Amino acid sequence: MATIFSRIAAGEIPSYKCAEDENYYAFLDINPLAKGHTLVIPKHEVNYIFDIEDEEYKGLWAFAKKVAVALKAAVPCERIGVAVIGLEVPHAHIHLVPINKESDMDFRNKKQFPADEMAAVAARVLEEFSKL
Ligand code: 5GP
Repeated sequence: MATIFSRIAAGEIPSYKCAEDENYYAFLDINPLAKGHTLVIPKHEVNYIFDIEDEEYKGLWAFAKKVAVALKAAVPCERIGVAVIGLEVPHAHIHLVPINKESDMDFRNKKQFPADEMAAVAARVLEEFSKL
C-alpha cells in the first residue's frame, strides 16, 4: 500500500505544496516546529533515507538545497535547520525548518497555524522556488 507521503505527492491527499519536480516533492509539515517547516521527499517510495540508491540520494539533497534557498527567501530567519528523523512516517523525508535559535529545532514543540497562513507561506515558497 502506498505511504501517506506517496499519496500526498500524487495529489490524492491534499498538501500545502512548496516545490516539485519529476522525482521529488516538498510540502509543509502539518504539525510544524515553525511557520514554513517543510518536508522534502523522493516520489519513489523508500522507507529509510540511507537505503536510497546514490544517484537518487544525491538528487534528493540537491532538491532540498533549492527548497531551502526558496524557504529562506520566503520566511525571514537566521538559518534553515535540517533534520532527518523518520520514526513516524515510513517514507524517507528531510525536515527543513526556518530557525533563529537552537531550541527552534526541538521536535517536542510542534505548533499549528491557521489554514490561510499555511497556504500563504507555501505559496511564497513555491513562488521563490520558481525563480531558481
Ligand atoms: P518523522 O517520521 O520524521 O518522525 O515525522 C514525520 C513528520 O511528518 C512529522 O513532523 C509530522 O507532523 C508530519 N506528518 C505526518 N503525517 C502528515 C501528513 O499527513 N501531512 C503532512 N503534511 N505532514 C505529516
